[in-house]
Amino acid sequence: DPRLAGIASAIRVIPDFPKAGIMFQDITTLLLDVKAFRDTIDLFVDRYKDKGISVVAGIEARGFIFGPPIALAIGAKFVPLRKPKKLPGEVISEEYSLEYGTDKIEMHVGAVQAGERALIVDDLIATGGTLNAAIRLLERVGVEVHECACLMELPELKGRDRLGDKPLFVLVQSS
Ligand code: IMP
Repeated sequence: DPRLAGIASAIRVIPDFPKAGIMFQDITTLLLDVKAFRDTIDLFVDRYKDKGISVVAGIEARGFIFGPPIALAIGAKFVPLRKPKKLPGEVISEEYSLEYGTDKIEMHVGAVQAGERALIVDDLIATGGTLNAAIRLLERVGVEVHECACLMELPELKGRDRLGDKPLFVLVQSS
């Protein structure tokens, strides 16, 4: 698709952020490019409309940027999956491992019902730990995860392998 080159070039790389040695993929420059941002949303909407998806679950923080416009366009509700202690109501949580230590993501109890079909959205998959936890969180409450969708994948980190048989769709791959 000819739109993908414009999307890839609108993502900026910042070396050594947030620490030395990391090449940070910065999607905020894509948000400044109206065509690239619109093309991004359109590509996801074309793929996910008419798939029976009733929930778009967006991962904090940048899944909150891309998830809601996709949700509105396909007629699904939006559910934020947040870092610990951010959601005010009763939550369920899933832990995942980081390079050093662990982290958690949380979801409000009652936000989704057993039997619903979800799309999980984030900006980027690196090791896959975050998406793996998001899948477990939704499946624990009986939701079927249709697919995970990210703008970008860092294939060298093999995050895809941590998603089991769950499909992952990405627009752009980066080294
Ligand atoms: P993973 O759990 O290792 O796959 O890391 C993915 C999470 O870290 C996602 O929520 C991303 O937003 C974030 N992340 C990791 N590296 C980058 C990056 O280079 N740019 C933007 N987000 C990143």
